[in-house]
Amino acid sequence: MSASNLVAEAVWKDVELTRSVTDDQLSILHFLFGKNFERATRIVDKRGVKRISGEPSGRSIFQVMGESQRKEEYLCFAENFCGCYSFFYDIVNKGEQLCCKHQLAARLAASLGACVEVKVSDEELALLLSKL
Ligand SMILES: [Zn+2]
Repeated sequence: MSASNLVAEAVWKDVELTRSVTDDQLSILHFLFGKNFERATRIVDKRGVKRISGEPSGRSIFQVMGESQRKEEYLCFAENFCGCYSFFYDIVNKGEQLCCKHQLAARLAASLGACVEVKVSDEELALLLSKL
């Protein structure tokens, strides 16, 4: 894991503990993620992050809306995967960013307790995952 990733992890852990973001933490997240962080906060403000949990396993995945008016939504794991184009192009291929705005939005919403919680059966969750 890179140094910036470790810093980001430490900040997220603090945010999770306090369920709020201080100005200092904001500056750090901004420094690490730049414009993507602004985009992520806009998504969270619009309640654009759903956490879909399978029952009874409790396994979950995030469904994050896109920024544009189109009704796009991306399935994503905050730590390591997003179904969007930017994830494959900027992160996997070019290695230029730590993560995409949807992953950031998922992480931010989860840390702040701002996800829309959706419960489904494990079968439905499996079906959703099979489309990734
Ligand atoms: Zn994405």
